[in-house]
Amino acid sequence: VWHPCTQMKQHEIVPLIPIARGEGAWLYDFDGRRYLDAIGSWWVNLFGHANPRINAAIRDQLDKFEHVMLAGFTHEPVVELSERLGKLVSDKLGHCFYSSDGASAIEIALKMSFHYWRNSGRPEKNRFVSLQNDYHGETLGALAVTDVALFRDTYSPLLRHGAHVLTPDWRYACAGESPRDYALRAAAALEAHLDEHHAETAALIVEPLVQGAAGMGMYHPDYLRLARQLCDAYQIHLIADEIAVGFGRTGTMFACEQAGILPDFLCLAKGLSGGYLPLSVTMTTHAVYQAFYHDETGRGFLHSHTHSGNALACRAALATLDIFEQDNIIEANRIKANYLNRAAQPIALHPKVKNFRHCGMIWAFEVDTKDPAFAGEFFQAALKQELSLRPLGNTVYFMPPYVINEQEMDLLVAGT
Ligand SMILES: *Cc1c(COP(=O)(O)O)cnc(C)c1O
Repeated sequence: VWHPCTQMKQHEIVPLIPIARGEGAWLYDFDGRRYLDAIGSWWVNLFGHANPRINAAIRDQLDKFEHVMLAGFTHEPVVELSERLGKLVSDKLGHCFYSSDGASAIEIALKMSFHYWRNSGRPEKNRFVSLQNDYHGETLGALAVTDVALFRDTYSPLLRHGAHVLTPDWRYACAGESPRDYALRAAAALEAHLDEHHAETAALIVEPLVQGAAGMGMYHPDYLRLARQLCDAYQIHLIADEIAVGFGRTGTMFACEQAGILPDFLCLAKGLSGGYLPLSVTMTTHAVYQAFYHDETGRGFLHSHTHSGNALACRAALATLDIFEQDNIIEANRIKANYLNRAAQPIALHPKVKNFRHCGMIWAFEVDTKDPAFAGEFFQAALKQELSLRPLGNTVYFMPPYVINEQEMDLLVAGT
């Protein structure tokens, strides 16, 4: 097995942890040790491991059928999921195109946006803008709109680079500048860029409210509100990459709600299936859909992924949405977030900790260190405290499953 995002040679000294089973917020190895999954297995797990309700839904589907190609065929789980996502987000974004990974959902949004403009007689609109430090996945198209040097620079000759505009992440604000003032300054920089480049720009792509891979950089929702206005004014699509922040992570079901805006494309993955199975979706508007709807085959969106709309994954997603509704999760998370905020005060006040911040069910802080080995050493030390925590550089963050209880939050804070 060649492991993801890993220099394999490091495993000569650091062993992998084989997992035997999971239950709730915990992972168990074969030696009786357990680890609190405090980063939700790379930001996907919402309702714990081996969740009985999601398991039951998948088992039920398994006895009917597991998968059928979504070209020429359809099935109840994919139709129901699309209808429920449409209701949840807005009927204005009710057209759902399915794929398996987040990066594929991004590729689809980029291709659809360009193709929309092409079908509308404006093929010159074929460039993309994203935020400085944004992350949108590792495939070549997604990497071209990503701005994380470690992941991107090696492959630079293969990429058709997009532009990156000033990030609204308030860690970059000047002394005395409020997060909102800084967001307004970043929006002005976006306006300047679009003013010059709107004629060749198809879309702006953003990670709404939290730039995950950048080290959980957080920003004021007014940036999104202004970005939406600018996109309308300059006739540019807005692509919201809610792959990490969707499904309650920022305190609302979707981050865009906090700015009162709707994007033209909404990309969802990770928590969509409760973190169970690879499932992603690109949701879009009727205007976009209509631009492809034609007698001519070539005007259609001739893009496919083999497992598009996989029935087992859709059932996991439906069971996940049931839990949100039945257990009033958004409200319950607010209470949990308040608890963890209070419990985490000793971390926030620690002399080596900077920028302690929180947005919904995401917490992050920088550790005052120049040690390049910090992230790896912290990961190892956290394991000894029964915690799975994987810092991004010197940024430590928590993204726990929503089933985490008060006792587990206390363990998380004490161990950290
Ligand atoms: C994880 C992530 C992606 C990529 O998703 P994959 O499923 O890993 O391809 C894209 N955008 C954001 C914001 C992400 O967090």
